[in-house]
Amino acid sequence: MKSSNTVETRHVRQTALPEIGQSGQERLSKGSVLMVGVGGLGSVAGLYLAAAGVGRLGIVDDDQVELSNLQRQICHSTPDCGRLKTDSAKQRLLELNPDVVIEAFPVRFTPTNAESLLGEWDFVLDATDNFEAKFLIADACHRLGKSYSHAGIARFLGQTMTVVPGKTACYRCLFDTQPDFAPDDPPKGPMGPVPGVIGSLQAMEAIKFLVGCGDLLTDRILTYNALTAQFREIRVKRNPECRLCHS
Ligand SMILES: [Zn+2]
Repeated sequence: MKSSNTVETRHVRQTALPEIGQSGQERLSKGSVLMVGVGGLGSVAGLYLAAAGVGRLGIVDDDQVELSNLQRQICHSTPDCGRLKTDSAKQRLLELNPDVVIEAFPVRFTPTNAESLLGEWDFVLDATDNFEAKFLIADACHRLGKSYSHAGIARFLGQTMTVVPGKTACYRCLFDTQPDFAPDDPPKGPMGPVPGVIGSLQAMEAIKFLVGCGDLLTDRILTYNALTAQFREIRVKRNPECRLCHS
């Protein structure tokens, strides 16, 4: 049962923060975030965004849950193996917060559907696991003027950066073309807490973007090495040669 009282009680710890308050909570409840991928990063980001009361969450993923996913993709459970990840995630996120509207897109993210999928959301999370999708998100978000959080994960390493197209350094400012990089075969990692840390950072970026508080992780990339427990912040600038920023 939904009453304004239960909604208020659910979020009382964050509305008590002056940076959020009632007005920030209203912005969250009117806000929308699309997550491309509901694997390791999207599991964690999705749980925190649903918990925070973001009004509408979109999830794009055409994969099914496999047993080997569960050491890091924590919004899916053992009985979910074989189900579509979007179905499993939608159920879990609604259990956590039934007031959130979850829109599931059990489709592959491709150049053909990228812009129509990204178009109707306030903020986008790149929670994908391959370079092709990352460049696709960067390019389509640039064309749509849509802000997004980039993230990448490998083994014990993670990185993340937020992009406000046309204003801050973009993914292509850093990486002009897809790196010639062969993924581990068979796959190795990532260790579960790595997407946990980076997915949490992405959720916080989306919350700050919707509320309009704090400073976004723009013009800098944050890297995390879980083995050495070190974070590094690398300042980045818009690249005058960037084919997106200067197209
Ligand atoms: Zn650029």
